[in-house]
Amino acid sequence: MNICRICGNDESNSEFEVTEMFLCTKEVFSYFKCADCGTIQSAKMLGDYARYYPSDYYSFAAADNEGTKNLTAIQKLKKSIVRSRDRSALTNRGVFGKALGTLFPDIEKKLNSLRVIQLKDDARILDVGCGSGEFVRYLNELGMKNVTGIDSYLQGDLDFGNGISVIKSDIHEIAGKGMKFDLIMMHHVIEHMHDPLEVLNSSFKMLTDNGSLLIRTPNAESYAWERFGANWVQIDAPRHIHVFTEKSLVRLAEKAGFAVSNIEFDSTEFQFWGSIQYENGICLNADNSFMTDATNSIFSESEIEGFREQSKKLNESRKGDQFAIHFRKAGIVETVFRNSGSS
Ligand SMILES: [Zn+2]
Repeated sequence: MNICRICGNDESNSEFEVTEMFLCTKEVFSYFKCADCGTIQSAKMLGDYARYYPSDYYSFAAADNEGTKNLTAIQKLKKSIVRSRDRSALTNRGVFGKALGTLFPDIEKKLNSLRVIQLKDDARILDVGCGSGEFVRYLNELGMKNVTGIDSYLQGDLDFGNGISVIKSDIHEIAGKGMKFDLIMMHHVIEHMHDPLEVLNSSFKMLTDNGSLLIRTPNAESYAWERFGANWVQIDAPRHIHVFTEKSLVRLAEKAGFAVSNIEFDSTEFQFWGSIQYENGICLNADNSFMTDATNSIFSESEIEGFREQSKKLNESRKGDQFAIHFRKAGIVETVFRNSGSS
């Protein structure tokens, strides 16, 4: 019997199998979807996840937002692929970035998700699961003076100077040091955690009273899940341990003392081309994958453009396959609300 690790429900949870299609090992993993909160989760924890995170998994290859404005979408993609490849050659990083980052202007998505909170230059920012720290450095370039990144998969700390630090650490170790932050961000990280409630508890501990916790993660109540099922690219077995729904993530965050302050759906064309490739047995890292070589893929330029349009519509109807939620400390949201109501 599968018991939901998020809400505890043990009735009518449906089990299904998901094939590893990113690294193309084609191993099959058992997952189930909770009949109550909707969370898709691995049925069994693996002893060793490290082998599913090869050294080139992490990349935050920056989508260069300058100098690409006059190019068509496909030209931009090609340019990004080239840059990502070059970066991979230089740094031995890049596979994941090519999939979820560079093909989509990932930096732009990340920045977009921050717009609603109007950060001050001296805000203390923590990027959890920051990879090689690309976004941390980028925020610093944009004038943020106090940015910290942590990632437990780093080989060691990275020193960039300028008041930015990238530390090999997990969130609990940092929380144990009594550090405080005005913004804690997790961009596509919490779905990889085996202990999401503990991660939220540690976040609560580190967040200042008026601070914001931003979580971007896939959406298990998406059209893509309904349409593609086990072939939905963002189940990403076995790396994604919990694929939340809006309801399940909010409930869990409430347990840790948070309340929602903003939610936006920010899915991309990846939900279509990635999942259609899986349906056709094409791995993400295959030679004819759109990620590897757009011109050699099974998609035309106009199909990709269509996927992009469809994704926008899905986001508007809250059915996009990923979202960005800002949480604040529960008591604080109410206080802010009361104050604004009485003034
Ligand atoms: Zn559940």
